[in-house]
Amino acid sequence: MIAPAQDASEVTARSAQAPFVNEEFVDFTLGENRRAMQAALADVESQLGRSYDLVIGGRRVRTEGKIVSSNPAQPAQVVGTHSRAGSEHVQQALDAAQTAFADWSRRSAVERAGLLFRAATLIRERKFEFCAWLVYEVGKNWGEADADVGETIDFLEFYAREAVRLASATTPIQLPGERNQLRYLPLGVGAVIPPWNFPLAIMAGMTAAAIVCGNTVVLKPSEDAPTIAARFMSLLEEAGLPDGVVNLCPGAGAEFGAALVEHPQTRFVAFTGSKTVGLQIHERAARTQPGQHFIKRTILEMGGKDSILVDNDCDLDAAVQGVVASAFGFNGQKCSACSRAIVDAEIYDTFCDRLQAKVAELKTGDPVENVYTGPVISEKAYRKALGYIEIGKTEGTVLNGGHAIETPGGGYYIAPTVIKDVAPAARIAQEEIFGPVLAVIKSQNFDEALAIANNTEYGLTGAIYSNSRANLERAQNEFHVGNLYLNRKCTGAMVGAHPFGGFNMSGTDSKAGGPDYLLLFTQAQSIAEKITKASQAAEKQPGQMDL
Ligand code: NAD
Repeated sequence: MIAPAQDASEVTARSAQAPFVNEEFVDFTLGENRRAMQAALADVESQLGRSYDLVIGGRRVRTEGKIVSSNPAQPAQVVGTHSRAGSEHVQQALDAAQTAFADWSRRSAVERAGLLFRAATLIRERKFEFCAWLVYEVGKNWGEADADVGETIDFLEFYAREAVRLASATTPIQLPGERNQLRYLPLGVGAVIPPWNFPLAIMAGMTAAAIVCGNTVVLKPSEDAPTIAARFMSLLEEAGLPDGVVNLCPGAGAEFGAALVEHPQTRFVAFTGSKTVGLQIHERAARTQPGQHFIKRTILEMGGKDSILVDNDCDLDAAVQGVVASAFGFNGQKCSACSRAIVDAEIYDTFCDRLQAKVAELKTGDPVENVYTGPVISEKAYRKALGYIEIGKTEGTVLNGGHAIETPGGGYYIAPTVIKDVAPAARIAQEEIFGPVLAVIKSQNFDEALAIANNTEYGLTGAIYSNSRANLERAQNEFHVGNLYLNRKCTGAMVGAHPFGGFNMSGTDSKAGGPDYLLLFTQAQSIAEKITKASQAAEKQPGQMDL
């Protein structure tokens, strides 16, 4: 029988030893879950339009400037009004983080992990509520919202365990006559800059990874999803977050974000977003500022132009299903979304027919009603995707969609669009659209299919449907992407099983949700002590770090 836990740190140590298990998806076909979700939607609807302030050093800071977050399905509906941080708040926020760093960096890994475990428990208890916020603020359907919330819980649970594991690391070799240690120390004060499309999971994941290692951060959420971040911040506080460990500052990327990246006190930047912004951050962070006494570290996860290869001997229905789910799940607004299907000439026509039929079945409508595809995030995204559709009409033949969908609420709806007979170098085959637009490209043979798959500047995800072992193996060696999937869709990476991050212009291949991720938020220190009589008497054994 297991003895009852004595204190919080013992509880955490036990949690850390329990094996990590991915959070189960909610089954919305069950009446009780549907009712719980409807109740959460009604509850959250009654909370829409509230005001939120910056949180700096635990204090609420109200500003004149505001960011108004609205529901993309009904843009007149305000989800939250947020104080907007300007560049004048950068110093204040970094100072608060610096002050908090002195204590937080010295807390034990178990104590820091405890915060993540408690946050995971609270989110699990309020899963439907967080799902509902995601429905209203970014237009996710219920299943997509649940996947975002589930991934958030997974990141918290996974990184908590990883931090405890790292804290007990040791050197592979103990030299005779020495005591050798390897310690993973925090970097300092960092910036966390997430995108809007996984506004809970990526925002919380980057924040949790940074702080569990002992860093403190300034979190600048996306202008399109600040309310989710504000809700998460309150939850962290409820879970026991000390003041200043996370400083929440919604602000414009080009103003507050850029100033934060450039500041000489910012030790690291954890960014996920577009290629353009990622490269700007890379350059800005590389420029040493007066008074800066370290090289900034950047963790940059960027865009994608992801392909699914459809081989001539594959299970065609499975391939069609995988392409549809990867291309149109959350309207193609995932970095991992399939935006190019590269299909062998032998089966091209049959594939296109079946694809067209399957896409025609997709329903578009208000995510509150749990419709499969909802709106795109903003007017800017809507115009961009429609612009690419017009380009696509000159680059291929429209199989499905090709137009906007008007609704009384003026939501940013675009019909799921498939354009076939697209040349591999066409713009819609090369540039990230980040909307419900799929290009279908014909390949004459497998060599050509692989060449097309590798012909973009990106390298994030990719998939291949094939029954040829030889071709699956060639894909493993020649399909140059950070996350490769064989005979399954190219979206839906699971924490722990599919560490996530891309090659080339898709980023620094950080592998979020994997065993190497926390190393990016630490610096390793090696300590060697000559064994003397005095040191032999010391209590600590090699590898026994303070947890
Ligand atoms: P974005 O690049 O427009 O914005 C991302 C974040 O950067 C936001 O918080 C924004 O305010 C901030 N920002 C903008 N300009 C800045 C600047 N000059 N300095 C500092 N910060 C600045 O991206 P988005 O539209 O929010 O997200 C969509 C993009 O993210 C797509 O390209 C998608 O592929 C990518 N993405 C990548 C991954 C991945 O893991 N590789 C995951 C999700 C999304």
